[in-house]
Amino acid sequence: MQKGQIIKALAGFYYVKSQGQVYQCRARGKFRKDSLKPLVGDYCEFSIENQNEGYILSLLPRKNSLIRPPICNVDQALLVFSAKEPDMNLLLLDRFLILIEHLQIQPIICISKMDLVDSSLIYHQMKPYEDAGYQVLYVSSKQEQGIEAVKNIFKDKVTVVTGQSGVGKSSLLNALDIHLQIDTNEISKALGRGKHTTRHVELIEMYGGYVADTPGFSSLELNIEPVDLAISYHDFHELSKQCKFRGCLHESEPHCAVKNAVEQGKISSQRYEHYLMFLKESKLLKEKKYG
Ligand code: GDP
Ligand code: ZN
Repeated sequence: MQKGQIIKALAGFYYVKSQGQVYQCRARGKFRKDSLKPLVGDYCEFSIENQNEGYILSLLPRKNSLIRPPICNVDQALLVFSAKEPDMNLLLLDRFLILIEHLQIQPIICISKMDLVDSSLIYHQMKPYEDAGYQVLYVSSKQEQGIEAVKNIFKDKVTVVTGQSGVGKSSLLNALDIHLQIDTNEISKALGRGKHTTRHVELIEMYGGYVADTPGFSSLELNIEPVDLAISYHDFHELSKQCKFRGCLHESEPHCAVKNAVEQGKISSQRYEHYLMFLKESKLLKEKKYG
């Protein structure tokens, strides 16, 4: 029995990488149920049948999983926001951060199109995030600036690249020399099926790690319980251990370490305001769900 990681799923086959080699595997019957199906990113135990074929026998516990793309054990998200066109949107950034961190994925903020702005303005805007411990990268794909620093983040990690459309993800991937666009038409033709039935997910080896080829969050809805929301940001989570009440929502509870940090200027008040908005939204969603 071997251990490996599924790096690609296509047409009923799982491609498992183990010690530098890729094995074309099928999953045995017990995986038929959808909930048990192997995902790209899964660590698995498998048997080798022929030289490079095999059967997946079991899956190891998952750290996290995404629905779209269907992939699991994601270590980090390169979260791309443009400095301009579209304008920097901190409310949206905070929303993305909460969604990502809630999934135990490490966010890395990447500000694109830096050539379009006065950089000191953006540095100033991003300071609270750097202070909170987020890694922030500043790039211009057009002027090929800051690209080398991005290359360094991939090593030994599974990374998804995400962000609104138009922020410059494709341009950045091109500047990184990552060419993820696969020709779905070619694959569909090979399979004799329509374009939309092809569900192809693949981890691409990149700078010593893996990048998922189909990035994106299908929904930005905060379908997160309020108590979980309250500890999704890593720095809020750290502070919440000092809040007087367990399960503190950092709202109107007394002796709240998060609120104290806001008052002392250690957490930006804007970020906290955004958090309160998300909390409200999460509570409303919960009410709708449970009445
Ligand atoms: P995506 O939808 O996130 O993949 O964004 P694209 O990479 O397609 O870029 C959207 C638009 O922004 C295109 O018109 C690009 O030419 C432009 N763009 C991307 N990166 C940069 C950059 O670094 N500087 C400037 N000035 N424009 C950029
Ligand atoms: Zn609190």
